[in-house]
Amino acid sequence: MAKIKYYYDTETCRYERVKVSKWDIFLNLLGFLSVSLILAIGIIAIFNSYFDSPKEAQLKKENKELQFYYEMMEKEVKNVQKVLASLQERDDEVYRNIMGTEPIPNSIRQAGVGGTERYKNIIESDLEREKLILEMMSDLDKVKKQMYIQTKSYDEILEMAKNKEKMLASIPAIQPIPNKELKRLASGFGMRMHPILKVVRMHEGCDFSAPRGTPIYATGDGKVIKVSTTFGGFGKLVVIDHGYGFVTKYAHMSSFNVKEGDKVKRGDCIGFVGSTGTSTAPHLHYEIHKEGKVINPIHYFYQDVTDGEYEKLLELSTIENQSLG
Ligand SMILES: [Zn+2]
Repeated sequence: MAKIKYYYDTETCRYERVKVSKWDIFLNLLGFLSVSLILAIGIIAIFNSYFDSPKEAQLKKENKELQFYYEMMEKEVKNVQKVLASLQERDDEVYRNIMGTEPIPNSIRQAGVGGTERYKNIIESDLEREKLILEMMSDLDKVKKQMYIQTKSYDEILEMAKNKEKMLASIPAIQPIPNKELKRLASGFGMRMHPILKVVRMHEGCDFSAPRGTPIYATGDGKVIKVSTTFGGFGKLVVIDHGYGFVTKYAHMSSFNVKEGDKVKRGDCIGFVGSTGTSTAPHLHYEIHKEGKVINPIHYFYQDVTDGEYEKLLELSTIENQSLG
């Protein structure tokens, strides 16, 4: 029931009835509805910004999971790239080198896989995580291409190996003394402190520390071209020519087991460890020359070391210590 309202009229000095027109009622109602509507919209907006609908929550969860998997996959791709890089390095440093083949130029190994055209679909689909997806696609493409080049390289080496049995027997490919525990490698190839001159100079071979009298092996088939003794320098020295551009030198021996002109097979004992010439302790100084240039012997012990042992030797050989002579 509507209440009847009065007001005091100061002119007539009477209470007069308040007359409310329908128009007033309509305007009041409209005002009330507008305020209610604005309030309702405001409340819904605040609610939505703080609370997700179940569907939104589900989508967000899925999105998070996808992001996680993507990042995990990206890490895996990076790991594969690392493994591939080490295969490529060994391929160039060891296998192709041994076969006398040039390493594969980096420009070919790292060659692109064809501009942005390739990823046009992804770019056009305007995906939220476009950058992430594009990066991974491009990384995967690169890995695929590099793997293809790597397998081609192995095919080529395999073909060469079939025809080069004699060459393989001649290449200096074992360690020159018994070294099963890898404890004998005392100093590697590179700039090293000279033990007597006390200056840093190029150490052109590897030093194997071993007791006097330890047998020294020919590291590949070949012919003894030099057996000499000097007071300083290399002391008692044997030089073997293996053909195919390879010559090996074995220095500071205590005694010889071969003479000039002898033909030797890989693993034959050619002499014994000593400390003759410029040497501070019994050891074998071993050098490999290829086409007249000294090279790091560490890459050439592949016949009697496993991949893991190779890594260990590589690590040992890079320690910048003092050579033994
Ligand atoms: Zn040395």
